[in-house]
Amino acid sequence: MSGRILVVDDTAPNVRLLRAKLEAEYYDVLTAENGPEAIEIARQAVPDLILLDVMMPKMDGFEVCTRLKDDPRTRHIPVVMVTALDQQEDRVRGLEVGADDFLSKPIDDVALFARVRSLLRLKLVMDELRQREASGRALGAISDTMTCFGDSDAPANILILEDDEQRGARLASKLRGAHNLTLSDNPREAAELLSKTAFDLLVVNLAARGFDGLRLCARIRSDDKGRVMPILALVDPDNREKIVRALDIGVNDVLLRPVDANEFSARVKTQLRCKRYADTLRRSLDNSFEMSVTDQLTGLHNRRFMQARIEDALTRLERGVEPASVLIADVDFFKPVNDKWGHDAGDKVLQEIAMRLKANMRAIDIACRYGGEEFVVVMPGADLNAAMQAAERLRVSIESQAFNLGGAHGSTSITISAGVAEMVPGDSHESALIRADQALYAAKGAGRNCVRSAKKAPAQKATGS
Ligand SMILES: [Mg+2]
Repeated sequence: MSGRILVVDDTAPNVRLLRAKLEAEYYDVLTAENGPEAIEIARQAVPDLILLDVMMPKMDGFEVCTRLKDDPRTRHIPVVMVTALDQQEDRVRGLEVGADDFLSKPIDDVALFARVRSLLRLKLVMDELRQREASGRALGAISDTMTCFGDSDAPANILILEDDEQRGARLASKLRGAHNLTLSDNPREAAELLSKTAFDLLVVNLAARGFDGLRLCARIRSDDKGRVMPILALVDPDNREKIVRALDIGVNDVLLRPVDANEFSARVKTQLRCKRYADTLRRSLDNSFEMSVTDQLTGLHNRRFMQARIEDALTRLERGVEPASVLIADVDFFKPVNDKWGHDAGDKVLQEIAMRLKANMRAIDIACRYGGEEFVVVMPGADLNAAMQAAERLRVSIESQAFNLGGAHGSTSITISAGVAEMVPGDSHESALIRADQALYAAKGAGRNCVRSAKKAPAQKATGS
């Protein structure tokens, strides 16, 4: 996986060394020799990853990281702090200002590339989400206020997998109070728990004697549900090979044993923050999908969604699975409603029609607002007879009860006319709708407030008229 990496260090030989190592692995390398320059380059070039020296004159790495994470333009770029001091307090402080990971000088190549690969992979996922989010925003389906880094202090569901009961309890005690913790001492039980409950984080001891934690991690990553759940692995510092393999399998973060309470809670916080950010993005995408297939005024499906469902119904029909019909209904004399009582009253009528439509159709029918005061219902499984009965039921339900216009307007009676067409092999969604539309005009011509059916016709002949 290639990527663009920004190396920040005030010591020129350090920069040269890292640049050489990274370029040898075909990464595209940018460099900066102080904090302000790093921030400027990060904003301009938006690298995929930043390797940031902690000890720098004037503006140190913590300050640089704080500023990068405060800025929406650079917030999403993973930052790895590079420190000569292997001090616990520095790690915690780094995590608190939003650093994603640490490397100690002198930098170990294997550790470096494992971290880089793991963070670039994570960023790839985030970038895709951000990109889809941006297009959702362009469509007006996502608002600016909807996405932000989530509140990482809210309690999360955390599963701890540790074969030693006492160690597990000690780990849990470091987080207790802040989160809902579940302890397990064997991978089979853990897998079962994961399949039943949505956890926000898995903490797994890879140094356990009783089981192979890596195997479980690999299985979780190959599963659809587990693919996005963060995994924090505990490893022995001397087991470098396991650290590298864990990161390559897709473990999000590793924590060296013995576990320091502050570093543990800081790393948990970082993972939860990322998870919540990704969750927010995914939710807003679901939302934008929902909005892209829904008519805002009535809550019915929109035209785009309807066309796809007609095509589905046609496919089933052509495979001989079941018949299908389509209905078009149009409100009689709708313009005078708008003219006399205003558009709000007109909107109320359309909303009430949508409700009666839903109440009178089967659950599998797909009711859509076709535009203006026209509605379409796709009826999978319904032949012409069944569809005509449904249309008549709908017509009666509209006619039989007056429509409330809201405010001081009182109520008025409303009727609809409808055309029904049974689909035939060779139809397209256009040709089926054209035949239903012709039947609708026949209903209008017959004096309105009635239902007419279209003749079954091959698609070619129907579209020609
Ligand atoms: Mg330095």
